[in-house]
Amino acid sequence: MNLPLAMQAVHLNQGRVSVRTMPLPARPAGYALLRVLCAGICSTDLELQRGYYGFAGVPGHEFVGEVVESDTPAWHGKRVAGEINFACHSCSWCRSELERHCPNRTVLGIVNQPGAFAEFVLVPESNLHEVPGEISTEQAVFIEPLAAACEILDQVTIEPKTPVAVLGDGKLGLLIAQALHAHGLHVVQYGRHADKLEISKGQGIETNTSSDRPRKEFPYVVDATGSAEGLKEAVAMCRPRGTVILKSTVHGEVPIDTAPVIVDELTLVGSRCGRFAPAIALLASGRIRADSLIAGEFALSEAPAAFQKAAEKGTLKILLKP
Ligand SMILES: [Zn+2]
Ligand SMILES: [Zn+2]
Repeated sequence: MNLPLAMQAVHLNQGRVSVRTMPLPARPAGYALLRVLCAGICSTDLELQRGYYGFAGVPGHEFVGEVVESDTPAWHGKRVAGEINFACHSCSWCRSELERHCPNRTVLGIVNQPGAFAEFVLVPESNLHEVPGEISTEQAVFIEPLAAACEILDQVTIEPKTPVAVLGDGKLGLLIAQALHAHGLHVVQYGRHADKLEISKGQGIETNTSSDRPRKEFPYVVDATGSAEGLKEAVAMCRPRGTVILKSTVHGEVPIDTAPVIVDELTLVGSRCGRFAPAIALLASGRIRADSLIAGEFALSEAPAAFQKAAEKGTLKILLKP
């Protein structure tokens, strides 16, 4: 493939989304240059647009690409997803297999690393995962957020059939409910939007739109509401000695009465990004209906309209295609 000298890329700066012509990034040793096939706009991208983390640059961390240049010839032409935390591989955390927490890391499209809302993107070869043929390119965009959902099962051992409440029916809540359900847990998903919960229902997941929630009932409660009130509600629904998993990233402080946490001896588990392998296996198994989460598709050149659509309340996944 003859590579162009320049590419189109989305640029974010102080709330403004624009599409710019930029030079093709020069590939450092150890990195692969990928042609982006499809990418997804996530809530984090909308937060970057709102100015959190003081971000300016090319966003985008949920994507599928095709390798066009790499040190290892075997990667050439492969359809891949890329883990988004680029670790240093030499600090003490990296040496303890905590690469996703490496203090020297950059994060694709989030921290000091140009992202995938572009025609081409650089990713370290060690972060690449081949996407198997069973997974469509559109579905594969969900590998990254599904990995974040599966991270719960890496952090907490939950026996099959155990009741788990998932609070929230946004993109992440829907993926978490499906991932936990696929692992044989008895998921009850709570949310306010019957139309979104319908997606989970179609997968055989128990759903509930009532605001009258059971108290101290579930051994595990996942807060994926994305709201400051979610944690309080999750604590109230968790039974003594139970575990509350925090999946909502809320900006600013979340007030929490620690008395019920202490009295009921609850465990609070913060949870973020996950390994890609379990997410890829789960998508390949066909037990996750990622396509039902797609709300629309835009050309990369229409990124401003795509961001606007993604920011509309209740919109599920918006895809961008270069
Ligand atoms: Zn994301
Ligand atoms: Zn490190």
